[in-house]
Amino acid sequence: MSNPNFGVWRPVAENVELNALESNSNAVMAVADTVRTTLGPKGLDKLLIDQAMNRHVSNDGVTILLSLKAIHPVARMIVEIAERQEQLVGDGTTTAVVMSAEMIKEGKRLVKELGVHPTKVVEGIDSGVRHACQLLESEAKRISINDVELEQIVRTSLASKLDGKRLAELVISALRTVGENARYNGQYDFNKSIMVIRKTSMEDQIINGVVLERKKLDPELPMEIHNAKVMITKLDLKPVKESWIKENNKYQEILLMENDRIKKSKEMVDAMLATGANVILIASPEVDQAVEDMLVAKRVFAARIATEEIEHLSRYTGAKPVRVMEDLSRPDILGTAERVREDEDNNMIYLEGGSGRNMVTIVVSGTTKETSLERWRAAIDGVNAAEAALNKGVVPGGGAAELHVVEKVKSLRLKGLEQVGLEVVTSALESIMRQILTNAGFNGLEKVMAAKASPPGFGIDINSGEPVDMWKMGVIDPLMVKTMALQAAGEIAKSVLRIDRNLAAEDLSQQALSETKR
Ligand code: ADP
Ligand code: MG
Repeated sequence: MSNPNFGVWRPVAENVELNALESNSNAVMAVADTVRTTLGPKGLDKLLIDQAMNRHVSNDGVTILLSLKAIHPVARMIVEIAERQEQLVGDGTTTAVVMSAEMIKEGKRLVKELGVHPTKVVEGIDSGVRHACQLLESEAKRISINDVELEQIVRTSLASKLDGKRLAELVISALRTVGENARYNGQYDFNKSIMVIRKTSMEDQIINGVVLERKKLDPELPMEIHNAKVMITKLDLKPVKESWIKENNKYQEILLMENDRIKKSKEMVDAMLATGANVILIASPEVDQAVEDMLVAKRVFAARIATEEIEHLSRYTGAKPVRVMEDLSRPDILGTAERVREDEDNNMIYLEGGSGRNMVTIVVSGTTKETSLERWRAAIDGVNAAEAALNKGVVPGGGAAELHVVEKVKSLRLKGLEQVGLEVVTSALESIMRQILTNAGFNGLEKVMAAKASPPGFGIDINSGEPVDMWKMGVIDPLMVKTMALQAAGEIAKSVLRIDRNLAAEDLSQQALSETKR
């Protein structure tokens, strides 16, 4: 069942593959072809099937690429590009892949058919990408959190996703709720203020606060606390280690240690409660059963949390994590929340009305595990697109921004054959609109020509096929998605074009390489 094109690489003869550019480029195309048809609102989904016949339907570039089995080592670079785009911008992974494939295809044509030396092509790509990014930047529009463009960005980003319209509304309302509060040193950082969780047992919703997917320490504890005084503790709550007791086989000493364990546990619990805390969130690596029992006996709301949750909770409630016993005497150690409660049916704990920074949780549902996962990813894409748009500005979408800088990039004058290298970049700039429209059932090339003849900002209406102003249609993209994708595509195209031989090597693990150097 494995596709020979992106399957494991096998050198042809004597461990050397002479026609590396041809074979590497074919491998890249094969991998890019698996995702290009998902691009844009009319893009189609892929059905992923694993060996155990588990299935998952996806429209998300990075998810699809990461799920491919054996991949040609060069084509794996495409997967890495998509991953990097996902990390840096959080949206636009398919865009990055389509641009990369187009650059490699066009670069290969210049090298193979026109006999241009790869280094010339590479220099042309460098200048072209730089220039195109500058042009896109100069055309970008800055937006702020209350502008209608924020809604448009989210809707455009989610246009191709399962249930995208509904998710877009959820994301927009979350963004507006946290608003300016998500700004840190002038830049929006929604990672710090919007959490997205998925839950098949619940409806889609926005919760104004932090949600922990956890239960309280004991069912006996109160369900709900009003005017919560929140402590986050990282204290070592196991004063006497089990191993000490095990190692020690003298009855008298064990007895002493046991007494010590109970006494110290009690001291710790007393000291924690003396602060006035009525909600204790425990992120300690170890907690003695005696400590837990005493907390339950005192009927304070206590729950275990993970280290990763500390930051959010601390920011939301204002609580400072307690690390050593001395911290307990600091006056500012507790945070507050209007309400802390457990939702027993869904195994969740809600903290609402925190006195720190605003936080919002988006709960994404789904009828099956796989739909909830896909919707969850989509919601995160929407949040990321909004962040990129607020921080760096927006450009017309549907491939229109890229298309309308083509002529200006072409007019750049480079010396000699580097000039032809620019064609690699201009093809990539045209490829996005072409692919979106091809995916919508049009003749992509023909529609690109029509859009090109129209004023700046114009693209093609995905339904009627007529030229339209993308700004007016509200189809807009974050500038960052475009510039990052272009730069990534340029990098990968340059590496692939520079390779003239694939060689089978003995061992290229880091260790082996450093030994060779020595
Ligand atoms: P990516 O993984 O690159 O984000 P998507 O499938 O999310 O891929 O598609 C994003 C592209 O779809 C963007 O270029 C965006 O402008 C375009 N797009 C979204 N809605 C429309 C629309 N109504 N008309 C044309 N293009 C659209
Ligand atoms: Mg997208």
